[in-house]
This record gives sequence, C-alpha cells and structure tokens, in this order.
Amino acid sequence: MSDEDKMIPAQISKAVRQLNSIRPGYESLLDLYEKIFVAQEKSKMVTKVPAVDIPEETLKKKVSEKFPLANLSDFTVDVDSAAALLEEICGSLRGSGNDYSEAAGLVLDAISRGALDYAGLYSAFLGENEHYFDKASESIGVDKSGLAFFIYNSAKPSLVLFAETISRYLDPNTEWLKGYCPICGSPASLSLFEKDGKRFLCCSFCWHKWPTRRIFCNNCENADDKTLKYYSFDNEQEHRVDVCDKCKSYIKTVDCRNADRFIYPPLEYISTPHIDIKMMEMGFTSCVRS
Ligand SMILES: [Zn+2]
Ligand SMILES: [Zn+2]
Repeated sequence: MSDEDKMIPAQISKAVRQLNSIRPGYESLLDLYEKIFVAQEKSKMVTKVPAVDIPEETLKKKVSEKFPLANLSDFTVDVDSAAALLEEICGSLRGSGNDYSEAAGLVLDAISRGALDYAGLYSAFLGENEHYFDKASESIGVDKSGLAFFIYNSAKPSLVLFAETISRYLDPNTEWLKGYCPICGSPASLSLFEKDGKRFLCCSFCWHKWPTRRIFCNNCENADDKTLKYYSFDNEQEHRVDVCDKCKSYIKTVDCRNADRFIYPPLEYISTPHIDIKMMEMGFTSCVRS
C-alpha cells in the first residue's frame, strides 16, 4: 500500500468539509457517506482477496468479444474484514438520525443475537440469491434494500480490491467503447475529465475507472456528436452533465481541471442529488439502472 493510499481517509474528510461549505444543506448526507467512505478505505488496508487467474483462452475470447472480465460470482469477499466493517458502519450510523440509522440498529441487534450469517449473506449477495435476501431481511426486520445497502457497502473494499487485481489484464491506455464496465459489466455511475483532459468512466459497482472517448454515450454507445451534448450550471464549475438525445440518458461528469480539491468519485456521485433532480425534470434518465 502506498503512502498516497494511507492519506485517502483524511483527504475524504477534508473534501467533505469543503463540500459542506460550498453546498450547505447536505450536511446530513455528507456526514453519512463520510463515515462510510472513511471506514471503507481504512478497511481496504487490511482486506485481502485472492488473485484470480484467467486462463489464456478465456481471456482471448473475452477480449475479442468485448465481454467483461468477471461475473459477479467470480468476485470474492474477505468475510472477516467485511463483517468487521459492517459492524463499524452500523455502529456509526445507529442513532445518527439519517435514513439508515434505524436499520443499522436492527442489524446490530441481529449481530449481537448471533442471527447474522455473514458468509451466507455475502455469498447470497455475490450469487444474486434474492430468496436468501428476502428471508434474511424478514428474519432481522430490515427491509431488503436497507440490508443490501449494508452488505454492499461492507463488501465494497473486497470488490474494489478484486477489480484492482484483475485489472492487470486490461490495457489502462486503451479506450473501452462499451456501455458497461470492462471488469464486471455494470453501468458507469460517473464520468471524469482528468487534468490532462482525458475522459474516464467509473463503474457503479466495483468502481473501476476506464478510459473512454469524449464523444460517447455510455448507455447506448452512441458516438454521434449531433445527439450528444452537455449541460453546465452557473454555480457548478466542477460538474457538468453529459446527455444523449438518442437514449435520453445522462451521466454526471466531474471536470478535474476546474476542481482544486481531492476528487473521490463515490463522494462526487452521492453529493450532487440536485443535479439528478434537475436532469429528471428535464426528461432524462440516469445511466445507473437500479
Ligand atoms: Zn465494475
Ligand atoms: Zn445514449
């Protein structure tokens, strides 16, 4: 782990303070996610996932057919570290008065009763076993989306590490012109212009970041500049929204050239709900399908 990685939790907290001063009104939302992102980054430092080897023939086929490298079931979760993170996240959200504080308390109650089968839950999550989730959420009294929120957020360090490990099979300089993540196949959540003007997309699930074209719709793969445009907002120098008139989707874009603070993509994604509202009012749909 580099010294840069060790600085990330402090940089997230600093970015949250800066966001609070430029966007008053989001204190509660930012406080919730600061707790989660800082805990995730600290957990990532002690999380271990085994390296995955893709056989040469399989790799060739995936690359030539432009398939993502992994299915959800190929990912692994470090159950011990995810379980510790789950408890930590729930502990810091319980009683904090945000949307998840009640559910956090119920999950902690279930943990203290020994009623939470960690390995089963993470395995059901990766296996997309809806039935298991239905039963688990019923038995601990937390609605399914709340439980999925906690399971995803506590598994996230493992998912991100897995994506980092497997990304060695991808050329980081080759543009990926598909509407899904080259690692896991999920839709992009955020677009970035880096300081040198190159455009990247970030995955909504594993947060892998990949290079793409400036004129490209990540939802329908449209590359026609007549139907692709962007909106910018007077008081939002750091953000713009790229839209596609063909499929009516939008993606929020962070322009790092106009940002003089630390850019942490998951924080940028959640701290701009006013942009989502505006775009939906204008008849566009988010490229992240839920
Ligand atoms: Zn992904
Ligand atoms: Zn499109």
